Amino acid sequence: MPKFYNLGDIVEMKKVHPCGSKEWKIIRLGADIKVKCCGCARIVMLDRSKFEKSVKKILKNEKE
Ligand SMILES: [Zn+2]
Repeated sequence: MPKFYNLGDIVEMKKVHPCGSKEWKIIRLGADIKVKCCGCARIVMLDRSKFEKSVKKILKNEKE
């Protein structure tokens, strides 16, 4: 499971959003993490441990 995230990374979640997208963009990193759905632009806030459990992989790493 990926451990390091950067602002702007696109991640794939284990659960598919009702809009059909699995891809989310990280828009805030902190004790809580805010991600924006790439399909419908909905913004969701998760605590870090929940976020890490939900992420399947990083699709696009901003630092690479
Ligand atoms: Zn969505």
